[in-house]
Amino acid sequence: MSENTKCSSDASCGTCGSATGCEAAAKAKHTEQKLVSRLSKIKYRVAVMSGKGGVGKSTVAVNLAVALARSGKSVGLLDADVHGPNVPKMLGIDHMVPSMGINGMSPVVASDNLKVISMAFLIEDPDTPVVWRGPMKHSLFQQFLSDVEWGTLDYLIVDLPPGTGDEPLSIAQLLGQPLWAIIVTTPQDVALLDSRKSVVFARTVDMKILGIVENMSGLICPHCGGSIDLFKTGGGARSATELAAPFLGAIPIDPQIVTNGDAGVTIDTADPDGTSAEAFRKLANQVELATSRVLDN
Ligand code: ADP
Repeated sequence: MSENTKCSSDASCGTCGSATGCEAAAKAKHTEQKLVSRLSKIKYRVAVMSGKGGVGKSTVAVNLAVALARSGKSVGLLDADVHGPNVPKMLGIDHMVPSMGINGMSPVVASDNLKVISMAFLIEDPDTPVVWRGPMKHSLFQQFLSDVEWGTLDYLIVDLPPGTGDEPLSIAQLLGQPLWAIIVTTPQDVALLDSRKSVVFARTVDMKILGIVENMSGLICPHCGGSIDLFKTGGGARSATELAAPFLGAIPIDPQIVTNGDAGVTIDTADPDGTSAEAFRKLANQVELATSRVLDN
């Protein structure tokens, strides 16, 4: 800062020594500039949301990211579920740690074209709960976005925690616009009710709705390969129509998703010719189509 523009409050706190005044303002400005610079290299930012937990939001985020990466897109996956960061386990990379480079933290490379950052990489004991209030999570996300060297990406997929609390608000604020939202639901009426709240929330914070995904939509019979409507089907598509949001597709209930997810293998590797892997590829195609259509217009 030049002599002429010297800040009148350029002093540290006498009690705790924290930066105050100009020093803090300069730091905040620097972080903001880093954030803007990092985000300028990301073509599409997509938040994966759900009204409640257990509907397969992380499963969809992980398998969508994998399918996009396999189709040749450069993808970053940010696990923003601070309290239940399951993404590294689902990808079989939970033993890895991000390295520090000259330009910041390097994300963990999960496979060709796929980089991942998660709170799970930073906690030593996975059984220890993270007891953090909103502002701490906000600064963690700020670091995940501005201090992590994501590089040039086609897609940054953000796996948000369920619901409409602090985390989606922080992510919406930090990622700015355009930020796309994918809402994951299961076909039961109660889940659909919650997913509608997510759609309204996303619109309230100016996210653009990329669409609704119906997960656990019919069970694939392990014997004959036929479909059994265990939790009903079609609710996601109906909700999408009612809410004037696109319907992006349905993913069946597949026991292999559970066993392989627990073992850290995605369905694309475990059963590439199966119905579920095909459903995730179709979802990735829909996402590519929808995002490129909007950018081209
Ligand atoms: P959320 O992120 O919404 O809390 P998860 O993605 O962690 O949900 O999934 C919860 C559980 O459901 C996991 O054990 C996961 O393997 C399982 N699951 C998710 N999607 C499917 C599916 N389509 N078929 C079978 N099991 C699934």
